[in-house]
Amino acid sequence: MNGLMQERQLLISDLIEHAANYHGDQEIVSNLGDGDIHRYTWSAARSRSKQVANLIHSLGVSAGQRVATLAWNTHRHLELYYGVCGTGAVLTTVNPRLFADQVAYILNHSESTHVFFDVGLSGLAEKIAPQCPNVKSFIALCDVGQMPDVDLPGLACYESLIAACRDVYTWPRLDENSALSMCFTSGTTGNPKGVVYSHRSTVLHAMSTCMADCFAISARDSILLIVPMFHVNGWGIPHSSAMAGAKLVLPGTQLSGESVYAMLRDEKCSVSCGVPTVWMSLLDYAQNVDPEQRRRDIVMTRALSGGSAAPRRVIEQLEQYFGAYLCQAWGMTETSPVVTVNVPLAKHSHLTVDERVGLQMLAGRPLPGTEIAVFDHDGNPLARDGRTTGQLKVRGAWVSRAYYKHEHDGWDSDGWFSTGDMATLNADGFLKITDRVKDVIKSGGEWISSLDLESAALSHPAIAEAAVIGLHHSHWQERPLLVAVKQQGMEVTAQDILDHMRRHVAKWWLPDDVVFVDALPHTATGKLYKVALRKQFECFRFSTDIGNA
Ligand code: AMP
Repeated sequence: MNGLMQERQLLISDLIEHAANYHGDQEIVSNLGDGDIHRYTWSAARSRSKQVANLIHSLGVSAGQRVATLAWNTHRHLELYYGVCGTGAVLTTVNPRLFADQVAYILNHSESTHVFFDVGLSGLAEKIAPQCPNVKSFIALCDVGQMPDVDLPGLACYESLIAACRDVYTWPRLDENSALSMCFTSGTTGNPKGVVYSHRSTVLHAMSTCMADCFAISARDSILLIVPMFHVNGWGIPHSSAMAGAKLVLPGTQLSGESVYAMLRDEKCSVSCGVPTVWMSLLDYAQNVDPEQRRRDIVMTRALSGGSAAPRRVIEQLEQYFGAYLCQAWGMTETSPVVTVNVPLAKHSHLTVDERVGLQMLAGRPLPGTEIAVFDHDGNPLARDGRTTGQLKVRGAWVSRAYYKHEHDGWDSDGWFSTGDMATLNADGFLKITDRVKDVIKSGGEWISSLDLESAALSHPAIAEAAVIGLHHSHWQERPLLVAVKQQGMEVTAQDILDHMRRHVAKWWLPDDVVFVDALPHTATGKLYKVALRKQFECFRFSTDIGNA
């Protein structure tokens, strides 16, 4: 027997309609740089999204065809999110921090026919255009007076194009399983791989992330979206904020600690989301602001953090400086991204501050609609005891089932996707990421977690950034090397760091050597780039490696 409920397809056009109809005067604020702050409302965003939809039809793009963006977080990018996808066309959001060859690869692989680009990325557009013969037009996201002086096929001005389009448009009732958008994995090895989200997966993801025991996004929130909209749909915030009718603040290219502080203050943001390095820059800036002033300026209660492990110091300082609670989440491009979120349970209300911060350092528990588990090498599920480390797998309603035009790797016959992360789960289902499978250090037949070592090093006040890599050791197979950046103006020795770390990790885990550097390499999404670091140190010999002397 079937239920007798209406079969309304889950479409993102319903989200912008809801936002405009019921939260029409709620603001969307974009920082366009040089003090240029653009403000409008969800109602105006819907009108302009409809102009974009009409533009997409006039460009001859039909449902299922790909249109790309090379853009930062602004209201225009938001309009493309709704205006392009609402027609059934598929938005390919390309990370402009990738190498030009990778950007060209993505445009070609996705067969994108039009590219909407920010004026500041004109140089990149010019560089890749000759490699992308299928791109018919490059559309600059600006007014006619700001048009860049570049030579690009079909160069056109966004504002002029949409000004010529009506803001009347009826969103098609698409099949909810239709493709919505494509994001590509960072591709630190090999070419980036395309993940194709559907309308259904995106609406379900948005609905779940609004839940109280997730990001708790509501109509009373003002959200600063620091996570780039080119990376996993900006954690779905452009969708969840419309669903909730929240105020949305878009920082454009203004991502320094000072700018983030100013936007949090000026727009009275209650929530923000970013990777730990974003929080570190904010804290670096805020440490020089008078403590009472800080508390008056910043009303943020939730700092959503993911992408890499949040160090203890960041959790503690966000609370100390602003009274903000760092809520850690885990996910990946393949998972839309949010799968686990760290929100305390009733039984945690009696924890000491130290214990509670320890809990906050975990990556959280899975959202309903998703499942996670850790497995051994032979594919057997491991105990949820908070100690046994295994390979993390995931499946669920917003987890991808294949890469776009790519051989079927990563998934097993039960639908589990191998994340490439090593992890433990405790009895309550709290996830702790211990490493990437590729980064875990194998020493004398035992595993050492590079993330735990980095976290221990970062808890020393003189360490700004730390990376631990496993390098060859003739006796132990591999041993950890700590490569660290000192806090500006602070002095510390390798021995000081090791003495400090000894208090946090087992003695046999301690790095055999510590090297101080001025900077560490990062990927296009701001994570430590350990492939490059291992290459940099491939000739390094440990002082403990007598066999190599
Ligand atoms: P990406 O697909 O670029 O978003 O990267 C996903 C990867 O980031 C995951 O597989 C993890 O290795 C890492 N990651 C994401 N969130 C966390 C977290 N909270 N703690 C540790 N690592 C994380």
